[in-house]
Amino acid sequence: MLEIKNLYARIEDGAQILKGINLEIKPGEVHAIMGPNGAGKSTLSSVIAGKEDYEVTEGEILFQGENIIEDAPEERAHKGIFLSFQYPVEIPGVSVTNFIKAALNENRKANGLDEMSAKDMLGMIREKSEKLGIKKDFLSRSLNEGFSGGEKKRNEIFQMMMLNPKLAILDETDSGLDIDALRIVADGVNTFKNEGNAVLLITHYQRLLNYIQPDFVHVLANGRIIKTGDKSLALELEEKGYDWLLN
Ligand code: ADP
Ligand code: MG
Ligand code: MG
Repeated sequence: MLEIKNLYARIEDGAQILKGINLEIKPGEVHAIMGPNGAGKSTLSSVIAGKEDYEVTEGEILFQGENIIEDAPEERAHKGIFLSFQYPVEIPGVSVTNFIKAALNENRKANGLDEMSAKDMLGMIREKSEKLGIKKDFLSRSLNEGFSGGEKKRNEIFQMMMLNPKLAILDETDSGLDIDALRIVADGVNTFKNEGNAVLLITHYQRLLNYIQPDFVHVLANGRIIKTGDKSLALELEEKGYDWLLN
């Protein structure tokens, strides 16, 4: 699904942040990336999604066997890469529902598909929102306007479920989540994931991994993956912190 080879990236005209990342994600897998603040976790997710503030100076990002480094963020999204937004934008006057309808139809168009019928769209919105415990009045609110941290995250998970990407990258999904919202987000990810897709979960906190079982846990520090393990590594990090891994 995703293969990152010897990836180096820097901020446009600035410091080198990623310094030789290697990562392989297969269909059906959930990978968690943990690491100290400033390690480059968000930079990695941005670089995979193609955000233009960063420049890849070396290495490859293969998505379904194709190098995507030259692709614009929209093209990557159309190919099936989804990145949740750490600080989602507010769009007054555009409802949660209308935003996702437009995004979904744009995605379909880019893949040579017709617009979804209003009936099918409504059915899908109903199904996904019910799964996430999203109420009707939430769907008609202006996107992100006055949303609490939990509501923002719930909306991101709703967007993910609707767009049904092949690779979902969730960055710090647990920041600002109370325990109930955390559970809903985790349930959303668990409902979303299947043998044909993959999840890359970036988090500071072990807590989220009590609800989402990762197949692999990676520690990213100083722009490199310095350790990979299974979910027991997350528990070890919770207990011991990161210092024992850094020298
Ligand atoms: P993490 O998500 O692991 O906390 P980040 O990827 O956000 O780390 O940041 C890694 C380093 O790169 C930090 O030192 C951060 O200040 C710097 N950085 C990231 N993006 C930018 C940017 N657009 N402009 C300036 N510095 C940046
Ligand atoms: Mg950070
Ligand atoms: Mg970050």
